[in-house]
Amino acid sequence: MEAKIEFDLESERSRASAHLMINEIYPAVCGEGREIGLPATFVRTSGCNMRCPGWPCDTPYTSVRPEGARISVEAVIRRVEEIGCPRVFVTGGEPLLWRKPLRLLAEGFRAKRWEILLQSNGTIYAEEIFALCDQVSLDCKTPSSLERSDLDVIRRVVREAPQPQVKFVIRDETDYRFAEETYLRLNEDLGAVALRRCAFVLQPMDAVGSDDATSLLNRLRWLQETVQERESWFFRVLPQLHVLLYGAERRGV
Ligand code: SF4
Repeated sequence: MEAKIEFDLESERSRASAHLMINEIYPAVCGEGREIGLPATFVRTSGCNMRCPGWPCDTPYTSVRPEGARISVEAVIRRVEEIGCPRVFVTGGEPLLWRKPLRLLAEGFRAKRWEILLQSNGTIYAEEIFALCDQVSLDCKTPSSLERSDLDVIRRVVREAPQPQVKFVIRDETDYRFAEETYLRLNEDLGAVALRRCAFVLQPMDAVGSDDATSLLNRLRWLQETVQERESWFFRVLPQLHVLLYGAERRGV
């Protein structure tokens, strides 16, 4: 007797017709956060709901001057398959602006049994997508960015998302105190045990185009010493590996 093949025609149709604005797809080694050092295929969407005017945005080609092409979910999956790395890092811009097609894309990645890491700016809670990911990493924008992430979104991700991570980019003392206060507030709301499932990462801000490795390392050392002086035992201090190796302006690394 012939085996019955389960086939969801509606889902297949919508997957084939769904498109996202893709800026680039490339293989690289993760350069920041808990996943630092892991090889992955980067899928970078274009378009962002923030501008971060206080910093030079490190990917202006996805925010202030969004570039890219509308590519079907199927074509993105094919391209990732050609590259061959079974770990996909979805980033932007802000990938959750493409919520519907992104869900189909994540379902496609899951069907291939690839690991999915998602990076978002902490303004959109997309439960249906988070549930498909292996790791959800949010930026919590610090005061020097002149943008603001949504603390409710961060709170829910810390509590519910798979392998949550919250990253703070630190330029100065004010940013540091903000990160500390945010952690303490989450601690008050959710409790210290609940917070253990989340990585809280501090990374020094890089000045795109004007930083060299020495100034980055100096800032990293300041950050590390501040964590020790202030006894902020809950933070993890990490550099941006790709910036140290290639500078902040190089793309595709
Ligand atoms: S959230 Fe990220 S991509 Fe968007 S403007 Fe800020 S730094 Fe750029």
